[in-house]
Amino acid sequence: MIRENLEEVEKKIQQACDKAGRDRSEVTLIAVSKTKPIEDLMEAYNAGIRVFGENKVQELADKIEKMPKDIHWHMIGHLQRNKVKYIVGKVDLIHSVDNEELAKEINKRAEKAGVKQDILIEVNIADEDTKYGVTADKVNELYVNISKLPYVNVRGVMCIAPNVDNPELNRQYFVKLNKIFVDIMNIMVDNSRVDVMSMGMTGDYQVAIEEGATMVRVGTGIFGARNYNSE
Ligand SMILES: *Cc1c(COP(=O)(O)O)cnc(C)c1O
Repeated sequence: MIRENLEEVEKKIQQACDKAGRDRSEVTLIAVSKTKPIEDLMEAYNAGIRVFGENKVQELADKIEKMPKDIHWHMIGHLQRNKVKYIVGKVDLIHSVDNEELAKEINKRAEKAGVKQDILIEVNIADEDTKYGVTADKVNELYVNISKLPYVNVRGVMCIAPNVDNPELNRQYFVKLNKIFVDIMNIMVDNSRVDVMSMGMTGDYQVAIEEGATMVRVGTGIFGARNYNSE
């Protein structure tokens, strides 16, 4: 089932790229495997997937241990400062940085680990009370401040659009994130590389790609519905 789902997702990504006149290589598919067992991840791995996203530190650390070593891991969920030490240097990208204190902790741990940690700034794009992320008007300031940290590299921005039935309703938010992305590119500090826009999930990744997403995070579309009962 996972293999078939992946084929379907791949087809839809290609369609969206074609529609937007973009090259498929501009978009990275992140397979969001949270709550799913190793067997499921291995099925995706055997179908060619090498980029996985998880949203909980403990689960992520366990899966890094158990899965093959050529995987690129992404931390996409809310991150508490006291858990930073468990993932710095082990993940390619932390998508969910929304305050300076968290960035400072990442910087501290990255220095200790002898790495430079790539991160994204999470934007609460629709100003939802239920969501994490910095508000749109505060992104530039946060970007400038985080960019001063020597062991952290801000690669771009991320958002979780509202949960809607019609993905067209989220187009406005993807357009908005794209504007923010261009803004921080224009104030880009030193020789840092700002090239990542992480937006679009199972319900709306095609629209996100049409609006410039460079990373889409797809969970249920690949692995099927999540079962939280066993947690
Ligand atoms: C769970 C999750 C996803 C994937 O959601 P689906 O709707 O299952 O594709 C994407 N991004 C984040 C931050 C998530 O927590």
